[in-house]
Amino acid sequence: MIKEDLVKIGLEVHCQLTKLKSKLFCSCSADYRGKEPNTNICPVCFGIPGALPVLNEKALKYALMVALALNAKVSERTLFYRKNYFYPDMPKNFQISQYDKAGGIPLAVGGRLIINGNKIINIRRIHLEEDTGKLSYEGTIESSNVTYIDYNRAGIALMEIVTEPDMNSPKEARLFLQKLSSILEHLGVCDPSLEGAVRCDANISFGGGKRVEIKNISSFKEVERALRFEITRQRSLVSKGIDVKSETRHWDDVRRVTFSLRLKEEEGDYRYFPEPDLVPIEISNEMIQQVLSEMPELPEARKKRFINQYDLSSQTAEVLTSRKILADLFEESVRFYPNPREISNWLASDLLAYLSDTNKEIESLNITPKHFAELAHLIDNGLINRNIAKSIFIEMVTTGKMPSEIVEERGLKKISDQHYISEIVDKVFKENEKAVKDALVNEKAVNYLMGCVMKNSSGRIDPNIVLQIIKQRLNQIKEGD
Ligand SMILES: [Zn+2]
Repeated sequence: MIKEDLVKIGLEVHCQLTKLKSKLFCSCSADYRGKEPNTNICPVCFGIPGALPVLNEKALKYALMVALALNAKVSERTLFYRKNYFYPDMPKNFQISQYDKAGGIPLAVGGRLIINGNKIINIRRIHLEEDTGKLSYEGTIESSNVTYIDYNRAGIALMEIVTEPDMNSPKEARLFLQKLSSILEHLGVCDPSLEGAVRCDANISFGGGKRVEIKNISSFKEVERALRFEITRQRSLVSKGIDVKSETRHWDDVRRVTFSLRLKEEEGDYRYFPEPDLVPIEISNEMIQQVLSEMPELPEARKKRFINQYDLSSQTAEVLTSRKILADLFEESVRFYPNPREISNWLASDLLAYLSDTNKEIESLNITPKHFAELAHLIDNGLINRNIAKSIFIEMVTTGKMPSEIVEERGLKKISDQHYISEIVDKVFKENEKAVKDALVNEKAVNYLMGCVMKNSSGRIDPNIVLQIIKQRLNQIKEGD
C-alpha cells in the first residue's frame, strides 16, 4: 500500500521570459504565438555557419531577478554549453543550454520557496536556455506517421528551475507552481496565463522506490492531474505485485493519461561542450545590487502589506496575491471606492468561483476596477441587497456591463417607498395576529414579521425601512391599548 506521505515529487519548471522583445540569442521576435509556422526564424536560429549568437542582456537580468526572488545563490561566473542531439526540435541540431550535470556551473544554485505557510521547497538549480521548436502530430503521438515542425518558438528565452524532491503530494506541486507563477508575474518577466509560458516535467517516487519522470505537462493546472494519475497507476501496479519501472513517461493532456515513450537520446549522448561562440558570463556584485534595487514588490511582501494596510485576513490576502492581475484589480478598485473588506470578498470568493466554474481566465473578462468599486458602492448605499448583488455580479462579469447599468435595465433598485411598504406591513399584521401579539412582548418575534414582509415583496424592499415601519406599528398598537 502506498501512503501519500511517502510520495516524493520534484519539479523541473520551464518558464519562458515572455516579457522580452526578442529571442535569447538573436533579434527574432519573442512574440511567436499565432504566427504563420516557420516565419519567426533567422540564420542564428538555424545555426548557419558564420551566424553568431549574442546573449540578450535583458534575459540575463530577468533570470537574475528570478534567482534572487527565490533566494538562490548566483554564480560569479557561468557559461553556456551546446547540448547536441539528433531530434528535430532544434533546427541546428543542438540547443544552447547550461550543463546540468556535476561540473556544470548554472546561473544560480540553492534557493527556496515556502508554500502552505511553512513548507519549504528547496531549489536545486536555476539556468537559462533556449526553448525548442514545436512538434505536432497527426492523430496521437504514438500512432502518427507524420510530424509537423514549427521553429517559431525555437530560441525563445527559457528559464529552467529545478526543485529538490521536497513535495509530498500532487496538491503541493500545484501550490508550488502557483506561487512561482505569481512571483514571475509580479517580477514582470513572464505572463503565466499565456499558453505554454510555464511548463514542467515532474519526477515522482514512493518510499525510496523507483523514480518515474513525467514529461510534457503543458500547464500548471495539469500538474496535479498528471501526478494523481501517476500515483493511481503505480498504486495499482504495486497492489498486483508488479514492480514500478524507472522510466520516462509522457503526459497526454487530451486523454489525461501518462504513457511510456522514449523520446530523446540518453544523456551521455548529448556530448555537452562549452558553446564556442559565446563568452562566459561574469556576474559582479554591483550587477546583483543593481538588480536588487530594481526589484518590484513580491507576492509575499504584498500579502503582508494587504493584511496591515487593508485589514484583510491572511487567507484572503494570500488568495488575492496569488495572481498579480487579481491583486492589482483589488488595489485599484479600493482606490476608487475605499471598502477593502467588501471588494476583497467579491474578488477572492465570487470572482474566483466564477472563473473556476466557467473555466475562464481573468484576462478574458471585460472587467475593470470601476466595476467592483461600483458594486460595493451600490451595496453600501443600500440600493441593492446581497442576493441581487450576486445576480448583478454574474451579469457584470459575463457581459462587462457596469453594475449601475444592470440595475437600471432590470429595475432592480431596492424599493424604499414607505407607502408601498406600509401596505405590505398592514397585510402581514392582519394575517399573523398571533405573531403580532408575541412581537409586542418579545423582540425576537419581530424578526418573524420582518421575514413575512420580505417574502411578500420578493425581497426587493429595504429591510431597514421595513423594520422601522414594523416598530412604528407595534408602538401604535401598544399606545392604543
Ligand atoms: Zn532568430
